Amino acid sequence: MSTGEPRFRSVVLDVDSTLSGVEGIDWLAACRGDEVARAVSEMTRAAMQGGLPLESVYARRLAKIRPRHDEIEALSHVYVERVALGAPQAIHRLQRAGVQVHLVSGGLRPALLRLVYHVGLSPGDLHAVPIHFDAIGAYVDFDAASPLTTSSGKRDVVRDLALDAPVLAVGDGMTDVAMRESVDCFAAYTGFARRQSVVDAADEVVASFAEVERLVLG
Ligand SMILES: [Mg+2]
Repeated sequence: MSTGEPRFRSVVLDVDSTLSGVEGIDWLAACRGDEVARAVSEMTRAAMQGGLPLESVYARRLAKIRPRHDEIEALSHVYVERVALGAPQAIHRLQRAGVQVHLVSGGLRPALLRLVYHVGLSPGDLHAVPIHFDAIGAYVDFDAASPLTTSSGKRDVVRDLALDAPVLAVGDGMTDVAMRESVDCFAAYTGFARRQSVVDAADEVVASFAEVERLVLG
């Protein structure tokens, strides 16, 4: 292990299919049966490959699903069960080396909080899309003003965080590639999903959190 300075002072991680092997919105769609599941996962796939802008599918996907509070709770356990091998330990070592770690996700914030604690981060380190329920836990709406519901939103959110440089961003989708303009290095994460458009646009390619750690700490 290197005893020198970390190569990056901040690391921004995508969540779905990067920190955890699930696409939360597709998992929720599967609760609504095959037809909704197929329609939603096709929209997700197109958005992550860059064929469709995320903003054109975000509201449509949620309108089809209308996730209830108890389903979001169930999903929060799935995110923890499918966490990338060794990710909590790698994040711990990054933080011990003085590296700031942030999660920037187009996923639903209440579904991600359990994972945030599981990997040793705090709610302030999570940037995701708020959703609202009524008093009996039925879906009301999502925060349509969140930049994270758009294809380029992660770029703006990361820029506004004004993280200590140099900054590394890691993710598997085209919405993650958008962060490249706001960071010093973008790594395509291929541990769960390998998208050629993302790999082609990346400065680095990593397939595990051991590789993420090596990239940062040497
Ligand atoms: Mg992803």
